[in-house]
Amino acid sequence: MTDSVEKIAADLAKYLRREQELGTSLYFNEGIINKEPEADQDPFIADCSDFVAKAITQITPSTAAELSLEEKTTQLAELNKQVAACEQCKLAPGRTNTVFGTGNPDANIVFVGEAPGRDEDLQGKPFVGRSGQLLTKIISAIDYSRDDVFICNILKCRPPENRDPAKDEVQACEPFLQKQLEILQPKVICCLGRHAAMTLLRDKSSLKDMRLKAQFYQGIPVIVTYHPAALLRNPNWKRPCWDDVRKLKALHDELVNK
Ligand code: SF4
Repeated sequence: MTDSVEKIAADLAKYLRREQELGTSLYFNEGIINKEPEADQDPFIADCSDFVAKAITQITPSTAAELSLEEKTTQLAELNKQVAACEQCKLAPGRTNTVFGTGNPDANIVFVGEAPGRDEDLQGKPFVGRSGQLLTKIISAIDYSRDDVFICNILKCRPPENRDPAKDEVQACEPFLQKQLEILQPKVICCLGRHAAMTLLRDKSSLKDMRLKAQFYQGIPVIVTYHPAALLRNPNWKRPCWDDVRKLKALHDELVNK
């Protein structure tokens, strides 16, 4: 086997593994298994490079002092206590547990979803049901684990029957998320679904439109993609989601390595 055939075989194995993890055959069918393409041969790579380059020029450096891991851990624990005691909206009486968020307090990437579901309410942890398992696979497909990132939601209590968050609930709960992000100081935020994106970005566009824009929350770049629950309902969105998380990784790597 020549080096290049070995490389193609290795790439093939890698993409098939990811394909299996994400539960779709699109990558194979659409030829993404090719050896690393030149930018002008793969529209996605060129588009991704443009997106990342544009996003980098628009980042507003934070003026806040950088917190140590210890400071972040302490401040998050204190905030978690406030969330656990919160009764500021009508979701409080129906919850089993508040769901503050989990992961690395020093994470460079923060995933923000919509609200806890039944499993999350029972366990007090975000994304532990079926959609959580898919999120774990998405994160591992870009070579990270849940321990590398931080995962939370807009709402910290479960809406009944998993209905959409109400405006007054979002308004009541959003200060907790704002404080969380202020403490975490991530390099990149990934919004999972339209509700998370609408809340953080104050943008009422369609998810499809929001996905394609370089957007920012307090100067931090935000990648918008589908909520994993939506991917379970419509597997055709897994391919665009895969493109989004590749952009997320490219942007993260560029910011961390510069
Ligand atoms: S959803 Fe948020 S604001 Fe409402 S009770 Fe729970 S923690 Fe408080």
